Amino acid sequence: MVGGIVMRDQMSLKPQCALCSVMKKVCMAENGVGPVFCPTLNCKESIALAIKEYESSEIREFARMASVQEAECYANRHIKPYVSHPVKPRVQEIVEFARKMSYTKLGVAFCAGLQAEAQALTEILNAQGFDVVSVNCKVGGTPKEVIGIIEDEKIRIGEFESMCSPIVQANLLNRENSDFNILVGLCVGHDSLFFKYSKAFTTVLISKDRVLAHNPAGALYTTGNYYARLLKPGIDPPAEIL
Ligand code: SF4
Repeated sequence: MVGGIVMRDQMSLKPQCALCSVMKKVCMAENGVGPVFCPTLNCKESIALAIKEYESSEIREFARMASVQEAECYANRHIKPYVSHPVKPRVQEIVEFARKMSYTKLGVAFCAGLQAEAQALTEILNAQGFDVVSVNCKVGGTPKEVIGIIEDEKIRIGEFESMCSPIVQANLLNRENSDFNILVGLCVGHDSLFFKYSKAFTTVLISKDRVLAHNPAGALYTTGNYYARLLKPGIDPPAEIL
């Protein structure tokens, strides 16, 4: 018995934190409890191994500053009982975190469809004293055929299309020795490649959502009505609107 539950075979219990309905969670409260699939209770060895990563001074300082910044995004922290009062938009959070880390050169890897947002971000970062280098996802103008895309798989069928080139974006920012990179609207998967090839740590300012004005959480908030179809098998739109 641990934390109020019986331990089960660890191998058969995959973590399911997203489905946890425990009120006083063991991962958040002293003397808390967890459900049978709780990784805090079932995966102590893996957790201990991961925590050892913070013994690296670079990782530890990065993590420490991220947590300091996290707390500073709330006001009235000294008032009890505490009531959550967030006060900083994410772009301000990024600026303040970069300052805490003494970063001077910031890389911006953006989607061609979000040029205006990338420009606005650059203006803010410049105004805050950072040296900014930015790279468009279409950089290089490499045809999609290079990665095996055929005409029917293009956005504009029958026309020339440059591929998104997140590996080039990462390489160019690596070459510039950016201290920290910021993603602005890269596609699903293209962002993954950028993360894999970027030498500097990367954060995300905007997650692209072509339909929801870059607010992907909107679909999650409305599965009770307008996006109920996402809870049914097969989520492609009907052929007539394709
Ligand atoms: S770690 Fe355990 S208590 Fe915390 S959310 Fe996951 S399942 Fe729930």
